[in-house]
Amino acid sequence: MDNSLRTAYLQAMGIQPWVRRALAEEALPVVPEDKPEAPPAAGSAGFSIASLDWPQLESCVAACTGCDLHETRTRTVFGTGNRQADWMIIGEAPGADEDRQGEPFVGRAGQLLTEMLRAAGYQRQDVYITNILKCRPPQNRDPRPEEVASCHAYLQRQIALVRPSLILAVGRIAAHNLLETEVPLGRLRGRIHHYGEGRIPLIVTYHPAYLLRSPLEKRKSWEDLRLALQVSGTLQREPSGS
Ligand code: URA
Repeated sequence: MDNSLRTAYLQAMGIQPWVRRALAEEALPVVPEDKPEAPPAAGSAGFSIASLDWPQLESCVAACTGCDLHETRTRTVFGTGNRQADWMIIGEAPGADEDRQGEPFVGRAGQLLTEMLRAAGYQRQDVYITNILKCRPPQNRDPRPEEVASCHAYLQRQIALVRPSLILAVGRIAAHNLLETEVPLGRLRGRIHHYGEGRIPLIVTYHPAYLLRSPLEKRKSWEDLRLALQVSGTLQREPSGS
């Protein structure tokens, strides 16, 4: 295993990589005693997640101790589906079911998401599904900025590996973090946004957990899916007669 990859793995596991003392002393910056330097978090600058392949990335996530959520998670939830998918679905964070099973969107909200995708002509395994966070926040509270920051490089690498032609941001947390905005979700819907340097078209829709609470909004989420289909040029996949 090359040295930078070994270092990346160790850092993801929260282990300070071992270096020969003479070298370490030469390389160490002088830090005043009252200001110890924080060890690099997984996903921070200098960490080579951007060069990992799928198995390496998945192992890194499974071993991650980059934020406090590793202490309360049952399993990490990496992502599932077609790794060459046209559509990438990005949600918020695992809930209780996902934390137990290690797969995103498998609870009630997930079943609704699966139905929504089917209505758009996609089977669950046709798309790639993941979340902003790979670990469950306790009591399903909103992700904290430091947790999002810690997971950011993993998601970036997943997006770079899948190279989707469209990202569907599911819910407020996903939309706000991907678009780096706090504009209310209702105003982000119905427009084509773009993500990252690759300017991947991004469509915002309601979170299926919200749709379970507010079923009347399902009509709007269907409009969002139609927009996504138009954008990705696959409107012909729509079931006939609808
Ligand atoms: N909600 C999400 O945003 N993601 C999941 O994986 C499950 C529920």
